Amino acid sequence: MLRDFFARMNRSADGQPPGVVVLKTNLSQRISTADCVFCKIAGRELPAEVLLQTPRVISILDINPIHYGHALVIPTSHCSDFLAIGDADLHELMRVAQDVARGMVSALGLEGFNVFSNNGRIAGQSVFHFHLHITPRYPDDDIRFVLKLKSYRDGEMAAYADKIRHCLSHH
Ligand code: AMP
Ligand code: ZN
Repeated sequence: MLRDFFARMNRSADGQPPGVVVLKTNLSQRISTADCVFCKIAGRELPAEVLLQTPRVISILDINPIHYGHALVIPTSHCSDFLAIGDADLHELMRVAQDVARGMVSALGLEGFNVFSNNGRIAGQSVFHFHLHITPRYPDDDIRFVLKLKSYRDGEMAAYADKIRHCLSHH
């Protein structure tokens, strides 16, 4: 849940072996779509406060918001995480996310908002059907991503960039 996510974000990153975090292509347990809460919401089998539905995407209010109006943007077709979503769904998802964010800013008079996604249990994902969170932010709202930032030693930044670049499909 999000509480766990923020707890994880607040912890020190020390103790992680450098550069050996391997994201599997499917980060989550395989679950039956019949048991998937977001599949059920997309199919209108479960109730939700729907903001918008397009052929490929549904946006709803999160049932346990960080702030009131916290929205989720969800592909209607099941995929477990960011690495599993197809191009057409991804494209429409981002268009809908921008529309929802614009609406939220306008409706709630926001100065800022966060867009984020948890991928894999270790990253705080609790519903293993991919979704973006869009959350209102307010001055002095005491929500902080407190991170202990690292510095690279000589050559390390280039080495990490090389390592990742070599695994990109567009290199
Ligand atoms: P995550 O922890 O990033 O996987 O986010 C899952 C989110 O889904 C959480 O913020 C939950 O509050 C939210 N959620 C779970 N069940 C429902 C539901 N039935 N309707 C709306 N939001 C839900
Ligand atoms: Zn699903």
